[in-house]
Amino acid sequence: MGRSVLVTGGNRGIGLAIARAFAEQGDKVAVTHRGSGVPEGLFGVRCDVTDMASVDAAFTEVEDAHGPVEVLIANAGITDDTLLMRMDEDQFTKVVDANLTGAFRVTKRATRNMLKARFGRIVYISSVVGMLGSPGQVNYAASKSGMIGMARSITREMGGRGITANVVAPGFITTDMTEQVTEDRRAKILASVPTGRYGTTDEIAAAVTFLASDAAGYINGAVLPVDGGLGMGH
Ligand code: NDP
Repeated sequence: MGRSVLVTGGNRGIGLAIARAFAEQGDKVAVTHRGSGVPEGLFGVRCDVTDMASVDAAFTEVEDAHGPVEVLIANAGITDDTLLMRMDEDQFTKVVDANLTGAFRVTKRATRNMLKARFGRIVYISSVVGMLGSPGQVNYAASKSGMIGMARSITREMGGRGITANVVAPGFITTDMTEQVTEDRRAKILASVPTGRYGTTDEIAAAVTFLASDAAGYINGAVLPVDGGLGMGH
């Protein structure tokens, strides 16, 4: 406990629940935001994960306040849904740049110190659709399955240096991102979830804090679904 934790996109939604869960167990938690301000009781740094200079400056600020980042949660993400026929290259690149290349940028910056310390915990917030696919989400699903290959490659490169890289794959969780769906779509979604309800942000946070704990030191390159059974078998 008392570790330096950084949660990207920790100013709201799933990221905020994750940040609060780490803070509750006594860790020193920093969250990124893009100008929305910092949730009460947390340390916030401005950071846009699509910009390496911004990532670098944010890490430096966190290091000055809390010491080198020992636990990195790559959570920041966006959607820009439309069917492939209507999706232009910009829409594809924009989503991959924020979700996947963004995760790469923060990982690259964080592992510099993790390697020196011979300790690190990295958790990527992917999605069930990274494995299941989803109509209208060619860009988003590609970015989310890319995180799995990323985590597993890092595990192979750095597993011997005390670093773990794991993936949490949420299903449908109640946040701003899922509140945009219509009632009709919501009913269809719920019909496909064996548990029969949306998940909560706290249920994602519980999986993430576990993967970052000392008890999870031998779990590496794993994908942990938290999806009410939606993606079973993938
Ligand atoms: P929200 O839309 O509520 O929050 C997204 C977060 O990402 C915000 O904090 C946002 O910051 C941040 N963000 C987006 N782009 C950038 C960027 N370029 N640089 C820095 N921060 C950025 O989403 P959720 O909380 O629902 O989702 C969090 C993660 O969980 C995402 O990666 C999402 O794909 C994933 N997920 C969500 C599911 C769900 O059902 N909700 C299901 C599966 C996965 P800002 O406030 O500045 O916009």
